[in-house]
Amino acid sequence: MEEKTLIYVAGNPDAYPLEYFDKDTQTYAGVIPELLAEFSDQSTYEIVYYEADGTDHREELAQQKQVDLFSGYEAEEEQLENTGVVTLFPGENAYALYFTEAAPDAFQSNLRAYLEQVSPAEVTGLLMASVETPPNTQGMYWTMGAMGAALLVMAAVLLLTVRRYRRRLKESQQNVETDETTGLGNMEYLERYYKQYINDKNRILYQAVYFYVDTDRLRRLSSGQETDEFLRYCAVVLGEYTQDSDILARVSEHGFIMLKLTGGTDKTDAWLTAILDRIHDYAKLYGKPYETNIYAGIYALRAEDRDLNEIIFQASQGAYGAEKEDCRYLRCSKGMMDQFMQERHLQASIEQAFAQKEFQLYIQFYVDAANFAVVGGEALSRWKHPQKGVLLPSMFIPLMEREKMISRLDYYCLKEVCFFLKGLLKEGVDTFFVSCNFSRDTFAAADFVQKVQEIMNGFTFPRELLILEITESVSVRNAAQIRQNIIALKKYGVRVALDDFGEGFTSFYDLQKYPIDGIKLDKGLVDHVTTPIGTAILKAMIQVGHELNMTILAEGVETDEQVRAQQEIHCDVIQGFRFSHPMPQWEANAQIIQNRRT
Ligand code: C2E
Ligand code: CA
Ligand code: CA
Repeated sequence: MEEKTLIYVAGNPDAYPLEYFDKDTQTYAGVIPELLAEFSDQSTYEIVYYEADGTDHREELAQQKQVDLFSGYEAEEEQLENTGVVTLFPGENAYALYFTEAAPDAFQSNLRAYLEQVSPAEVTGLLMASVETPPNTQGMYWTMGAMGAALLVMAAVLLLTVRRYRRRLKESQQNVETDETTGLGNMEYLERYYKQYINDKNRILYQAVYFYVDTDRLRRLSSGQETDEFLRYCAVVLGEYTQDSDILARVSEHGFIMLKLTGGTDKTDAWLTAILDRIHDYAKLYGKPYETNIYAGIYALRAEDRDLNEIIFQASQGAYGAEKEDCRYLRCSKGMMDQFMQERHLQASIEQAFAQKEFQLYIQFYVDAANFAVVGGEALSRWKHPQKGVLLPSMFIPLMEREKMISRLDYYCLKEVCFFLKGLLKEGVDTFFVSCNFSRDTFAAADFVQKVQEIMNGFTFPRELLILEITESVSVRNAAQIRQNIIALKKYGVRVALDDFGEGFTSFYDLQKYPIDGIKLDKGLVDHVTTPIGTAILKAMIQVGHELNMTILAEGVETDEQVRAQQEIHCDVIQGFRFSHPMPQWEANAQIIQNRRT
């Protein structure tokens, strides 16, 4: 084979997609390197990029004639000494190759001849492929001028003809589609395979299994490097349990996904248990002082499933759910999925709901147990959703609690209650009291009292007309802070009541620890008031409550029989559908004023 003459070229590292230094492959890439490589293949010259380290050495290399050739924008390079130029891309962003004195004459004419016969189609193909391959350059992008745009239009079809380029593209694709840490395919890889699968009618996807690793926790407990090692271990184990027809990929910092094409769902449990066992054993095997867990969510695909992101989302919810419920894996059921969808829609519209004042204050009246006179009411939130209609708290409060957004609603509701009380006062009503619900997180916060005061200070009404409700289960956690908050609130003048009493585990003894003004007997207890044992329990509770100077309210009273029973055991206040349903605040306002007049 004949010896090739070496020709050196100084490249521009930052002219993507014409010519740039790809940090991943540590080589020059783009249209010009491709053309030069093709020329090398066809001629007796071997063109090599000089000192390919990614920094721009063109000026010194050209001046010292260490290279035969350099490249650049005509506008920028014209001041550099050269013996000839070939303009490759004329126009505003004209880009050219310049010869230095070092370049042999024969080489110059050969290269010119070669470049002249390169068809626009080929350049387009190269350009297109460069654009498809995300660059890893220092930053500056070549601005696609009119020429670039025009060439790109023809590109899609012509690309197919540039065969050699396709090979290169495939190589670089492998790089782009690989997760650096584990060596598995990444999301792009998965997407490409998934597209092939859904277009192939003979293949059926059965399940998507999402594996979730709490890497945040691991990174806190160990080093980043150790976490990566664990992830690699997971990848190896998962790989071992992946059949030929399955696709495994790492799709996020926390998650792996396996699309399973094999078999039905009956063998999944044994298969999954084996994987989870192996991964769980990692800490023991390698003597790590922390636990290494992985959780899985199984999503059985339906015929209509198309959107890969949606499939991953569903499976991931199963995995997150498994962690929350402290089990190893969860199957996504229809009910679970519907709830996810529902909640996702709602979650996405919470911001807007606040902005558009979609949360509305409803009031349910309390009546005096002795004479059934309306004495006050409970503030209950409703969400007037523009599409779904009026939503009950059970549809959005648990979601808001999970998303840590509940305090915002609680304070919003408190402010609405203050407006309501102020409005009544303006009408001369100064005895109607309102109780307001607060979630555990809101009530137990260190700044709770301060926030309540900030809101209430903007309104003038007798403080004792406001009662803050804290649910019984709250008092179990953060007891000290809650006690402190209750004491401070009482000092400020508002009253505090314990909600849902009897539902949780508060003992009479605990009751004494909190300086509360009243208790609301849970509907569960109230429902049993007509049985002998139920009556005995309630009677004792009310007696103790009264001894502690508390007002006793019975929730959820629905029948006359229950009303009579409550009267017999000396309950003070009654709330329930027997007397009143929750109503919009304006309606409550009108009724209260009406009552006063009659
Ligand atoms: P809760 O505090 O126990 O409120 C009483 C619930 O019982 C209300 O449900 C009320 O409509 C219902 N109820 C009243 N009387 C009867 C009856 O005779 N029979 C039956 N079956 N039910 C009755 P709602 O309005 O759906 O509220 C549910 C829960 O949502 C409330 O329970 C409360 O814990 C919570 N909630 C409502 N608004 C807010 C809010 O703004 N913030 C917070 N944190 N929680 C709220
Ligand atoms: Ca309540
Ligand atoms: Ca309650």
